[in-house]
Amino acid sequence: MVDSLPDSPAGDGALLLSRLPGGCGVEIRYFRGHEELVSEAGPVWCGMALRSIEGYYVVCADCHVPS
Ligand SMILES: [Zn+2]
Repeated sequence: MVDSLPDSPAGDGALLLSRLPGGCGVEIRYFRGHEELVSEAGPVWCGMALRSIEGYYVVCADCHVPS
């Protein structure tokens, strides 16, 4: 369940999500407030589909396109 999707400027440690598949594949090692996601899902990389948030993909700051 997601009450508010991250909409923060890139580079502040927030998890960036995209509705569009694809990404550069870089490993995303840490994002503030989502440590539990890393511990549950293991390595997270740019373009990885999120199981916990259906229809969204993790992206890095370089690939994130603000809506
Ligand atoms: Zn990327």
